[in-house]
Amino acid sequence: MARIVIAGGSLGGLMTANLMARAGHDVVVLERVDGPMQGRGAGIVTHAVLVDGLRRCGMPADFALGVPVPGRITFDVDGNLLGEMALPQVLTSWSLLYSLLLDLARQTSAIRYLQGEAVQSVSQDAGGVLVTGTGGVFEADLLVAADGIRSAVRQQLWPQVQPEYVGYVAWRGLCDESALSARTHEAIFEKFSFCLPPGEQLVGYPVAGPGDSTMPGRRAWNFVWYRPADATHRLVELLTDDDGVHHAQGIPPAKVSRREVARMREDARRVLAAPFVEIIGKCGQPFLQPIFDVWSDSLVQGRIALLGDAAFVARPHVGMGVAKAMQDAMALVEAVERHGATPEALRAYERDRLPAGQAALQRARRLGTYMRACGQGVSVLPKDARYVMAETAIDLEHPPPEAIID
Ligand SMILES: Cc1cc2nc3c(=O)[nH]c(=O)nc-3n(C[C@H](O)[C@H](O)[C@H](O)COP(=O)(O)OP(=O)(O)OC[C@H]3O[C@@H](n4cnc5c(N)ncnc54)[C@H](O)[C@@H]3O)c2cc1C
Repeated sequence: MARIVIAGGSLGGLMTANLMARAGHDVVVLERVDGPMQGRGAGIVTHAVLVDGLRRCGMPADFALGVPVPGRITFDVDGNLLGEMALPQVLTSWSLLYSLLLDLARQTSAIRYLQGEAVQSVSQDAGGVLVTGTGGVFEADLLVAADGIRSAVRQQLWPQVQPEYVGYVAWRGLCDESALSARTHEAIFEKFSFCLPPGEQLVGYPVAGPGDSTMPGRRAWNFVWYRPADATHRLVELLTDDDGVHHAQGIPPAKVSRREVARMREDARRVLAAPFVEIIGKCGQPFLQPIFDVWSDSLVQGRIALLGDAAFVARPHVGMGVAKAMQDAMALVEAVERHGATPEALRAYERDRLPAGQAALQRARRLGTYMRACGQGVSVLPKDARYVMAETAIDLEHPPPEAIID
C-alpha cells in the first residue's frame, strides 16, 4: 500500500483519488478551496472512456449521468438552418460529476479530502516526496499534481510552461429549462446546438438543472460562446470588475462586470439567432473564461506527476478535458499497479499520456483556427456547419461517420 498525495480536489484529483483508493492505496487530497465547490463550471460532454472510468471509480450502473440528446443542429445568425447531424450523446455537468466523485470518495476511509489546503512547495529525494501545504507537511511515495491550469507544482518544477492566451474568450452560462419559451424549447432544447456568427461560435446543450436534476422540466441549457478579444485591450476590459479591479488570472463569475454582461447581451441580439438571444437574456449569471493552451514536453520528475489540466490544456472545442483527466488517472493507477509507487511507474505513465496530451492539443488548435476562419468576410457556409458539427466534442474512439479525422 503506497501513500499518494494529490494536489487539487476537482475532477482530475477526485478521479485519481477514487481509482488509487480502489487499488489499495492511502490517499490524501489537498484542495485549496475551503467550502462548497458544486456551483462551479457548467456543461461537460461525456465520452465512453469517461463512463468507463466513472464505473471503475464506483459509479452505480443505474446512475443518471446526464441528459441524452439525439443529435446536432446548426443555425446561422438569422436563424436559418445550416445543417443537422444525428449523433446520440449524453451531456452532463461539472457539478454533477463533482458531487458523484466526492460522494464516492467519502465512502472510503482510504481517502482524506482536505479543503482549505493550498500546496505551496514540494521537495523530493530517492525515497519520497514532502509536500508543504498551508496546514502542514505531508509525506508521500508519489505526488500527483491535479491542481489545474495554474498548477503551483508545475510553476515550481516546470516554470517554463505557461498558459498561452489564444485570442478569444468563452462566455458561459446556464438557463433553467422552466424559464424558456415553448418556441425556443422546441427549436433547440433537446439538441446539441451551434450558432455560427462569422469568426465566432456558440455551442450549447441541455444538462442537469438545479440539484443535479435530469428530470424533464427541471434541466438547464448550457451555452459556451467563443468571442475574439485582443490581449492588450479588450481582454483587460472583460477581466475588470465593477470596482475597477483587473483579474488578470481569470475573473470569478460573481465579479464579471454588469457593463460587460449588458454589452454581451446587446451583441447577442446583433449576432446570434433568436433562441440563443433568449437563453442568454434569461441566464442568471453569465461568466467568462479566457481560453488558453498549455503545452508540456514532460509530465514527470522523479516521484511527481502532472495530471489533467495541470499537464495539458486543450481548447474546449475538443470537449475532452474531463475525459482526458480520467484517461490520465487510469493510466497512472495502472502504471503504479505494474511498477509499484516508483519513479519507473511515473515514467511509464508519461510514455503513455504525453503523446496523447500533445495530440489533443494540436487537434484543439486546428479546430480553434477553423472556427476563427469561418465566415471571415463572407457568410458562414453549410460545409462549415458540417465540419464544426462533425468535429466538436466527439468521441475520437467512436467518431460519427461524418467526422473528418485529421
Ligand atoms: C469554456 C470551457 C468549456 C469546457 N468544456 C468542456 C467539455 O465540454 N468537456 C470536457 O471534458 N471538458 C471541458 N472543459 C475542460 C474541463 O473543464 C477541464 O479539462 C477539467 O475540469 C480539468 O480538471 P482538473 O481537475 O484537471 O483541473 P481543475 O478543474 O482546474 O481543478 C484544479 C483544482 O486544483 C485546485 N488548486 C489549484 N491550486 C492549488 C494548490 N496550490 N493547492 C491545492 N489545490 C489547488 C483548484 O482549486 C481546483 O479545484 C472546458 C473548459 C472550458 C474553459
